[in-house]
Amino acid sequence: MSLIYLDNAATTKISQRALKAYVDASEEYYLNPSASYKAARRAKERLEEERDYIKRALNADDKSTIVFTSGATESIQSFLLPLSKEKPGEIIATRIEHAATKEMLFSLEAFGWKIKYLKTKNGSVDISSLDELIGKDTRLVLSIHTSNANGNIQDIKRLTEKVRNYEKSQKHRILIFSDMVQSLEKIDIDLKNIDIDGASFSSHKINGPKGVGALYIKRPESFIPFSRGGGQESGLRGGTENLPGVLSFTEAIREHEENKSERREMAELISKTLREGLVELRAKLLTGERSSPYITSFSYKYPSEVTMRMLYDKGFIISAGSACSNNKKGSSEETYRALGYSSEDAKRAIRLSISDDTTLEEAKAFLKALGEI
Ligand code: PLP
Repeated sequence: MSLIYLDNAATTKISQRALKAYVDASEEYYLNPSASYKAARRAKERLEEERDYIKRALNADDKSTIVFTSGATESIQSFLLPLSKEKPGEIIATRIEHAATKEMLFSLEAFGWKIKYLKTKNGSVDISSLDELIGKDTRLVLSIHTSNANGNIQDIKRLTEKVRNYEKSQKHRILIFSDMVQSLEKIDIDLKNIDIDGASFSSHKINGPKGVGALYIKRPESFIPFSRGGGQESGLRGGTENLPGVLSFTEAIREHEENKSERREMAELISKTLREGLVELRAKLLTGERSSPYITSFSYKYPSEVTMRMLYDKGFIISAGSACSNNKKGSSEETYRALGYSSEDAKRAIRLSISDDTTLEEAKAFLKALGEI
């Protein structure tokens, strides 16, 4: 029996173009991009061309930079860990972050930082709750952009404007960070329009290779690197550059960019079909209006594991939450509760996440199978 894969927020299959880019680059650019001999210069140039390409795709400021990393987990940790060396202050965060961020916040707490949490409302972060939390000790405000649990998109622009307005009354700058892993190539990102200091991205969520990511840094001159080594990435991240991985990642971005409108239209159609079909089957949608068409969450009549197992037997791979948190029992349930859903809904939550490989027929087949259990 062939399986229909509806857990693309966990990871996607590498595209043929991205795979070819990886293989080609491994053969053509095997020299170390940081080597000083002339033959390695082209590898270095390619790396810089691709850095500029990502910056253009994100409409990032000319003075900002992209640091290539081993994935979003490293990007998040690279941005947050340097705080452990500073005099502790307060961080305002959300309770719906990915485990990579949550764990980093716990580490910073151990270094004396105080973490305050924004409230949630209707499955999203309640941005207005910032007003009662922000104060003279606030050093960092962070919020995930698209939730990996229910696909809802947080209003980062409004959050940023509020922080920047408050900041005017203060002498110090407040850093703003957003995890944009589930937003890249799925919804529009315009970094010139949102005044954040850092953001994380991952290649394997958009049909690129695993083990490659990016960290956006708005002001590289004031960034204190945590990963040091041979001075690679302009001294912002040590370690031999993964040029094949980077070229494969950017090829995946190009592929998405090239037929953006058709892809998005199809994702919208599949998402609408799924959401309407789920309501007809009396499932309760846990995803709101302002959401990514690539993720739909709902609660159904059985506990998540039971629904997952019954549907697996019918040929569907679905998830109860984020794949990374499946290693930690209960934590996806915790995220749904943090999003404001009841314990009952959190225990029964199912996440469907599509990719551009998903077809309308597969979505309809899923609804039919769900109706039969
Ligand atoms: N942030 C979000 C929202 C994610 O969904 C993931 C992946 O599960 C990550 C961060 C971590 O990404 P990576 O696997 O590239 O470290």
